[in-house]
Amino acid sequence: MATVSPPLPVAATRGSRIVLADGRELIDGIASWWTACHGYNHPHIRAAVAEQLDRMPHVMFGGLANEPALRLARRLAGILPDPLGRVFFSESGSVAVEIALKMALQYWLNQGVRGRHRFVSFQGAYHGDTFAAMSVCDPEEGMHSLFAGALPKQHVVPLPEDEAGMAAFDTYLARHGEDVAAVIVEPLVQGAGGMRFHVPETLRTLRAGLRQARSSAQVVPDIVTLSKALTGGTMALAATVASDRVFEAFLSDDADAALMHGPTFMANPLACAAANASLDLFEREPRLAQARAIEGHLAAALEPARELRGVVDVRVKGAIGVIQLDDMRRIDWLKARFVDAGVWVRPFADIVYVTPALTIDEADLTRLTDALTDVVTAWSRER
Ligand SMILES: *Cc1c(COP(=O)(O)O)cnc(C)c1O
Repeated sequence: MATVSPPLPVAATRGSRIVLADGRELIDGIASWWTACHGYNHPHIRAAVAEQLDRMPHVMFGGLANEPALRLARRLAGILPDPLGRVFFSESGSVAVEIALKMALQYWLNQGVRGRHRFVSFQGAYHGDTFAAMSVCDPEEGMHSLFAGALPKQHVVPLPEDEAGMAAFDTYLARHGEDVAAVIVEPLVQGAGGMRFHVPETLRTLRAGLRQARSSAQVVPDIVTLSKALTGGTMALAATVASDRVFEAFLSDDADAALMHGPTFMANPLACAAANASLDLFEREPRLAQARAIEGHLAAALEPARELRGVVDVRVKGAIGVIQLDDMRRIDWLKARFVDAGVWVRPFADIVYVTPALTIDEADLTRLTDALTDVVTAWSRER
């Protein structure tokens, strides 16, 4: 059995660098799972959090409101497409998914519709680690297969990728859709499922198909969950954003109609201040252009790896670069070589991938992709 290497103690972070306790500095290829999109310790976010810390680190959200939360909710509603405007804050992506699922269930109950208590999700999906979220993850390939017996059974179906897939999905919904409360899907990419990018048609056909299926299966996706990069990698925060139509189903004189969820740290002002500062940066600085530039760099730098023995696929979408391998028995060897090469890259499943901070500079990005191709080349030779 391969020995699991112990975690590396980190002393500090800055920009796209991780400083280890022994003084070594690693170029971060992961941005702490997408969160540090502006790089670590961005001065604008630090200043906003420090100012909020002086004024009010936290106050309960039950019966009280705070300005950073209201401002953030308004801004998120402004950014998201139109019917999505009603924001519910929590503290992690998994909880945001729990809330979305609960909203969908209670939406139907509040309209007097009984029996819609299951969800449709897709093979390869990952939606979080709490119980309801685990139940909509891929039950076989996912990391929660151990718990299968304890989880509610959902409808897990192949992700439609073409006309035939969409037709199969429609047929499935027509046959089995009567107990479906909602369909849950990761936009653009299945992350923890192995960085699998949706073909562009998938979401479009899914949406079109669901609209058609609405009369027969009564499923319409109109809840969005946000977390990972929401605070620019500083604080735990998530949002579940619903359309007006969903929101209105919870407005009633009947107290039982209210959404039955109230996290203690809901709308934490410190986290909301950080998220507002992060949105400032998206407005003021050219993040989308930076993502496009990273995409161009990754595409050119990783492409040669496609020729290596043992490399199954090389793919790039936005600031995500992936090298898929045919054999991960030497994953610990790979992890150690990356650290030796001065970069922080965490292979998992059958992939080596990078999701760097959007602010990573050209020199660090070059060192990162050089290390990536060097280590994978060495792996390919020795396999
Ligand atoms: C990260 C992630 C989650 C879980 O978020 P946590 O904050 O780790 O609970 C859920 N769904 C998707 C698609 C994710 O990428």
